[in-house]
Amino acid sequence: MPCVPAIIVHGGAGKWSSAPSDRREAARRALMESAEAGLQIMEKGGTSVEAIVEAISHMESSGVFNSGRGSVANSDGFVEMDAGLMDGETLDSGAVASLRGIENPIRVALLVMKKTPHVILSGEGARRFALSNGFSEDPFLLSKRDQVSHRLVSRSEWRGDTVGAAAVDQLCHTAAGASTGGISGKMPGRIGDSPVPGAGFYANHFAAAAATGIGELILILGISRKIVEEATLLGSVKLSGKSLLEYTRSKFKDDTFGVIGIDIRGEYAAIYNTESMPYAYFKKGMESPLVGGFPAL
Ligand code: ASP
Repeated sequence: MPCVPAIIVHGGAGKWSSAPSDRREAARRALMESAEAGLQIMEKGGTSVEAIVEAISHMESSGVFNSGRGSVANSDGFVEMDAGLMDGETLDSGAVASLRGIENPIRVALLVMKKTPHVILSGEGARRFALSNGFSEDPFLLSKRDQVSHRLVSRSEWRGDTVGAAAVDQLCHTAAGASTGGISGKMPGRIGDSPVPGAGFYANHFAAAAATGIGELILILGISRKIVEEATLLGSVKLSGKSLLEYTRSKFKDDTFGVIGIDIRGEYAAIYNTESMPYAYFKKGMESPLVGGFPAL
C-alpha cells in the first residue's frame, strides 16, 4: 500500500530565546524551505533519501544553523563537521566525521554510502574522498576563526542548532540524516553522535529519527535507534517519543537533547528536554509546513 510522503526537519535542541529575532526568523524560513524542498522531491517520485539530502543541504548552505556554512569552530579555531544518513529500506548508511572545508557534508555522506564499502570516513580521508568526487573547498570554511570559545559551554548557553531530517516516501521507505559543526570549543578531532548510525540518526522499515543535543550522551544511549525500534514495536513514533522522554528523564539531566521521528503512517514526533528545538513538518496534502518548537516569547 503506498504511503503519503512526509518529512520533518529540525534546527537543533538548545536555547533559541537568546537568539536575535532576525536570526529566529531566518531559522524559521530556512526550516520551512527545507521541508518544502524535501517534500517536493518525493512528490515528483524521488526517494526519502534524496529528500533528506536536499533538505539538509539547504540548511547547511543557509549558514543559519550550526552545520555546513554556519558551523561553529573547535578550540583551535577551525571548523570540523560531522554528518550522516541512513536508508530505512536497505539499512545502508554513510557518514563523514571531522570533515573540513566542504559546504555540504551530507552530500559527501551520501556518496560514502553509495560508492564505498564503508560507513564512516573521517578527517583527511573524508576530505580527499570528497575532493576526488568533484566537491570543491570553501575558503570560508577552511579559515581560522578569531573568536573561539575555549571552554565547552553548557547546553543552555550555547547555540544548539545542528540540523536533521527524517522522511517517508510514497513507497513507504524511510530515511534519516543529521549534520553539524559539533560543539563549540570541542577538542580537535572530537566526533559526536551525528555521523554515527543508531545515535545521531537511524531508520528502518517502519520509522526514522534524527537526534540533536550533547553528542556524548546521545552516543551512549543510542537515542535514534531507541526511538525507531520502540516505534516499530508500538506501531507509533508518537508513542515511542513519549516513552523515550520518560526514559531519558531518569538517565539524562534536563537541557541535554532532542529528537525528531517519523513513521510510515505519517505520524511524527518532536521531543526535547531543552528550552526549544525548532522544527518543520510537511506532509503531502498540507498547505504549508507546520512549524513548532520555537520558544514562546
Ligand atoms: N549533537 C551534536 C554534537 O554533539 C550537537 C548538537 O546537536 O547541537 O555534535
